[in-house]
Amino acid sequence: MPELPEVETTVRGLARYLDGARLIRVQTRRAGLRRPFPVDLVQVLTGAAVTGLGRRAKYGLIHTDRGQTMVFHLGMSGRWRTNPDELGTHDHLVLETDGGHRLVLCDPRRFGSVDLVMEAGLDQWPAFAALGPEPLGDALDAAHLKAALKGRSATIKLMLLDQRIVAGLGNIYVCEALLRAGIDPRKAAGQVGGPALARLVPAIKTVIAEAIEAGGSTLRDFAQPDGELGYFSKRFDVYDRAGQPCTRCSTPIQRIVQGGRSTWFCAKCQR
Ligand SMILES: [Zn+2]
Repeated sequence: MPELPEVETTVRGLARYLDGARLIRVQTRRAGLRRPFPVDLVQVLTGAAVTGLGRRAKYGLIHTDRGQTMVFHLGMSGRWRTNPDELGTHDHLVLETDGGHRLVLCDPRRFGSVDLVMEAGLDQWPAFAALGPEPLGDALDAAHLKAALKGRSATIKLMLLDQRIVAGLGNIYVCEALLRAGIDPRKAAGQVGGPALARLVPAIKTVIAEAIEAGGSTLRDFAQPDGELGYFSKRFDVYDRAGQPCTRCSTPIQRIVQGGRSTWFCAKCQR
């Protein structure tokens, strides 16, 4: 499943083809993904110039000179294909640019989404209105976490997955950040002290920034025809490493289930 770094990498890759380009042909090849495509999607995007790209949480943003932004989510299995030789059954949306490029949204499981949102109203769009600060933004600091977690009895692991606390953090990066900060994922969020929160903020920013950097270093591959944007392999310190030695202290990594999701942690390093 694509997490924030994959979405960021995808957006940066798409920008190379789309930023400043005009969309000369837009084609939908089915009615929608998790929900129907906007009825006016083709009409609004055809002939539009792309004025910029961006990301909010795990959503990609393609801004246009029509005042509307195409907002996409990759769901469980979505990806963008660049200049494919031919289209397959899972290629659901095709954008062709005046620069001669063809970008194709491919989503076999169709848990993704595509929406059109007025750019001026993006912050109020329902999926965005309640989101907490971006992990890499200045608004995520120890003071924000302290206020947001105060008195909360839910575990720190589950609170960090709550998009209202921090936007776009997924299971992998929450596990990794808690290891780096030395915080037990089973601890009640309201019981995590100030020094631990002060360690947690840079831990979150670093794990996300490092993953984006890893993704960025793969982008050159997408300059080839028939490329795919967004997926890359990364090395993790705790994620999916049950029974293997902790990278810091060699204690075997444990796996537990919290809120129906796996958590991996080191019982020695995380307290
Ligand atoms: Zn350890």
